[in-house]
Amino acid sequence: MSIDFIKSLYYEFISYFIPQKIKYKVEGECLKCGKCCKEIRSYGMKNEKDLKIMQFFLPHYKRFFISRIEENGEVVLSCKYLNQNGLCNVYNKRPSVCKNYPAKTINFNGKMIEGCGFKTTKKEFKDYL
Ligand code: SF4
Ligand code: SF4
Repeated sequence: MSIDFIKSLYYEFISYFIPQKIKYKVEGECLKCGKCCKEIRSYGMKNEKDLKIMQFFLPHYKRFFISRIEENGEVVLSCKYLNQNGLCNVYNKRPSVCKNYPAKTINFNGKMIEGCGFKTTKKEFKDYL
């Protein structure tokens, strides 16, 4: 278990208790491509053991499995409830992390998956005037 993974676990955990700090303007709409359910990245996660630890602390991670590990060692997760049509098999019971996507949490870096119908822009001070 790396330091990056411990940090990631910590930030993910406290994100449920700390008010959102970074605001994004979200535009566009979902194209129902399913990419966000099969291209899930968890910063610092390197292997199956890290995933098991994440699943222990954050049970909604139990729906995810490792679909591949990239050359740079980055783990890519996929959800077992994604069906072949790119839709969610448990749509009405999906967790809030799915319902709120794309959200504006302290961990969300504002970058959408390539091809996603949503576009996010970091809100500037002038946007609040
Ligand atoms: S990647 Fe974007 S367009 Fe595709 S299913 Fe997810 S939110 Fe919708
Ligand atoms: S529960 Fe449904 S919406 Fe959430 S990641 Fe899985 S397939 Fe996608």
